[in-house]
Amino acid sequence: MNQPKKVLILGVNGFIGSSLVWNILEKTDWVVYGMDMFSNKIENCLGHDRFKFFEGDITINKEWIEYHVKKCDVIIPLVAIATPALYVKKPIEVFELDFEANMEIIRKCVKYKKRLIFPSTSEVYGMSKDSQFDEYESNFVLGPIPKGRWIYSCIKQLLDRVIYSYGEHQGLDYALFRPFNFLGPKLDDINEPKEGSSRVVTQFLHNIIHGRPIKLVDGGEQRRCFTFIDDGIDCLLRIIENKDGKASKRIFNIGNPEMNYSIAELATMLVSLVKEYDEYKERAEKAEIVTVHSNEYYGEAYQDITHRVPSIKEAKEQLGWEPKVDLETALRLTLDYHLKNEDYELNRKHLR
Ligand code: UDP
Repeated sequence: MNQPKKVLILGVNGFIGSSLVWNILEKTDWVVYGMDMFSNKIENCLGHDRFKFFEGDITINKEWIEYHVKKCDVIIPLVAIATPALYVKKPIEVFELDFEANMEIIRKCVKYKKRLIFPSTSEVYGMSKDSQFDEYESNFVLGPIPKGRWIYSCIKQLLDRVIYSYGEHQGLDYALFRPFNFLGPKLDDINEPKEGSSRVVTQFLHNIIHGRPIKLVDGGEQRRCFTFIDDGIDCLLRIIENKDGKASKRIFNIGNPEMNYSIAELATMLVSLVKEYDEYKERAEKAEIVTVHSNEYYGEAYQDITHRVPSIKEAKEQLGWEPKVDLETALRLTLDYHLKNEDYELNRKHLR
């Protein structure tokens, strides 16, 4: 008889990790071993008999990691700094964690011949001119060295190339996935963000409810394809399942090409949705939307991406996956969680 899959998730308390573990426990018979420095986002999973949590740090608890890489079938290292403001402000920390610490884990997967599912990023395509970014065709276009924003993209690109090469030359079984602006409950803490330290949806929400102006960087004409976390997780579950080996040695964009909005449109939509929540109505009615120059907001090392649309042909063909949730629904569910303290996991069940 087949044993249930054993999945190791490092960074299990993060935005993707916390949602992934909950879905695995709900929908599969897999066993999850998870490590994180915190556990505030996975309280609903702690104590589950198929979830073993260890509070630890990937840069310190290396023996725990090695033991569990050996023990598990699939390794998903999700620990990384993935916030553009920090690429600009703390590039060395980004390199040490995102590259160096993760390289050690990748090598352990090679050593013990374990399947590696690794987060690449939509950021690797950089300023590519392609109208849709294709995993196997698009060129990567990054700015010059003093434009520090690209360090994250560059690190992830090199990791992708290293993993791919381990696959070609040393038999590593891997899948690389590239999230396109995932959003949803638990993305960032809306009460925390200092100006410019969080991702756009959380930042805007924070500004509205704290009575601060929403700042559109360089006018907010730049566009992103937003992807609801549940759609992203659905794709990840298919990658982990790896039916007929279709996710092996492949790269997948995970994004929603239909949810292509400018940042200015996102701001307007958020303001009008927040008006529906009685407690915050007044603040939303007073919300101001202003424009700031990117140099002023992020500093000289910033450079932006005007459009970022995924081709999702690969995920459709290999995995039969398609995103389902539109932006308004995605934002409403995110707002319900943050503004009404609604039990997000229960809400999710109604989605299905
Ligand atoms: N942005 C903005 N105002 C903010 C925060 C972000 O206009 O307060 C813009 C940012 O310049 C970028 C887009 O929103 O063009 C998305 O930013 P995010 O940090 O979410 O991630 P990115 O998509 O750039 O990786």
